[in-house]
Amino acid sequence: MPTAKTLLCACEDVTRAEVRRAFQAGHRDLESVKRYTGFGTGPCQGKSCLALVAQELLRLGATPAEVAPFTIRPPCDPVALSALAGLDPASLPLGGGRGEPAPRPPEQLPRPSAALPARADVVVVGGGIMGLALASELARRGVTDVLVLERGYLNAGASGRNGGGVRAQWTTPTLIRLAKRSLELCRRFAVELGVNVWMRRGGYLFLAPGPAQVGWLERTLPVHEANGLRTRLVTPDEACEVVPQLDRRRFLAASWNPDDAVVFPWPFLWGYAARAQALGAQVATFTRVTGFERQGARLTAVVTDRGRVACETVVNAAGAWSKEVAALCGVALPNRPTRHEILVTEAMTPWLGPLVSVLGNGLYFSQSQRGELVGGMGDPEEPEGLELGTSLRFLARFARAITACAPATGHLRVVRQWAGCYDVTPDNNPILGAAGFENFLQLSGFVGHGFMMAPAVAELMAGWMAGGPPDEIFTRFTVDRFARGALAREEFIIG
Ligand SMILES: Cc1cc2nc3c(=O)[nH]c(=O)nc-3n(C[C@H](O)[C@H](O)[C@H](O)COP(=O)(O)OP(=O)(O)OC[C@H]3O[C@@H](n4cnc5c(N)ncnc54)[C@H](O)[C@@H]3O)c2cc1C
Repeated sequence: MPTAKTLLCACEDVTRAEVRRAFQAGHRDLESVKRYTGFGTGPCQGKSCLALVAQELLRLGATPAEVAPFTIRPPCDPVALSALAGLDPASLPLGGGRGEPAPRPPEQLPRPSAALPARADVVVVGGGIMGLALASELARRGVTDVLVLERGYLNAGASGRNGGGVRAQWTTPTLIRLAKRSLELCRRFAVELGVNVWMRRGGYLFLAPGPAQVGWLERTLPVHEANGLRTRLVTPDEACEVVPQLDRRRFLAASWNPDDAVVFPWPFLWGYAARAQALGAQVATFTRVTGFERQGARLTAVVTDRGRVACETVVNAAGAWSKEVAALCGVALPNRPTRHEILVTEAMTPWLGPLVSVLGNGLYFSQSQRGELVGGMGDPEEPEGLELGTSLRFLARFARAITACAPATGHLRVVRQWAGCYDVTPDNNPILGAAGFENFLQLSGFVGHGFMMAPAVAELMAGWMAGGPPDEIFTRFTVDRFARGALAREEFIIG
């Protein structure tokens, strides 16, 4: 007879009681329960536990749509990086051919039981970290008539697919200020919101493989110093004191800030959502925004596949889909969604302190608090597009790059790979403030660093929306800067 302590997912130690707790907290579908408990993310990738958890959810009252299987992530079985490094990336096709199936039609999706409200003061499109952090910060300031609309489960977008890097090493004082504030908020998050975000303050180490990158780091250092960062330029020997596994012949210098950190992204969304809801805001998952109603210079209602909601203000926090959402009311954003891939290996005892990134080729990797190596690498040939499939080409490129950088990683076995989209703007800075309509606020364009910007930006935006003074970011990062040519490009992009 199964008991509360019966293990349903042996890879990740998830018991029947934990699945029940997730269900009781409102996470009824398999994708949400996976992200709430961690079941199905280990070496077997759900092969042993998916059916057991589905059975348990059905027993608890879940509908057949809610127990539709989640996407099993490749590779099917753990594969060593050294084996993948033997593949020739040039012979492998570009683009995400495997991994994420086409979206299910609305009638086959889980549907929330509560009806949508007829109106809300603020409707936020997108339940990623941006939308949820904003709802939570608004509610904290007494603006509680807020409705967040998310077309899938929480963590479906880039916020559930990223590397969890939180660093203050940027090239502009504005981004350094925002990142420093976010780091401070991340540090307090677990205590204030009661959710463990597995924060690991191991620093960031940027490796400069050639003279061009060394010169660039030398020029950037004074900005860091002037803005109160502890960044230092270090020699290969000094870098190897921090990470002995690095091949010191592969780089000439490195930039090292011990205060940067890595977090586990998923709990942030649950924490922000729970606090927003506890204070009176509403979060409707599996609800897709399909259009807007307008009158003159204002949007008057948001139209969804579950009905319409009249509103005073709309916030576009749809991440890589923000351009698509803006287009629903005829507003053109210059954002370009671009696919990025990432992977994790089996867990190991701690061996890697910082997040390591190689300037020039986009490789980055860190070790999570759970012991997994988490790493990604952009592909310069990746075309613009909203595609979430994964590729063997990425595994081969990543494996070659990491085993060259840190040869001892060769034996590590990859258990899971997936893709997400960066929401890229022409100057790598976000788009904030009204666009097209006076009450259509943008909170998008965060490229590959939105997770770490969200706590600080949401705090500033909520303060401004609640009647406080606007921060410079809401006058500088408006969409009209592209027409005005008032750009301050951010170059410190990785991935
Ligand atoms: C592989 C990868 C690695 C990354 N690494 C890092 C990192 O280390 N550090 C860091 O700070 N950032 C990183 N990022 C970037 C970061 O994840 C994003 O900038 C951030 O998560 C954006 O948050 P968001 O809330 O704006 O978007 P999202 O999390 O994408 O949320 C937008 C939501 O809108 C929903 N949506 C879309 N259309 C509609 C609609 N019509 N109706 C209703 N809902 C809709 C989507 O389903 C989605 O859930 C990485 C990104 C990727 C892809």
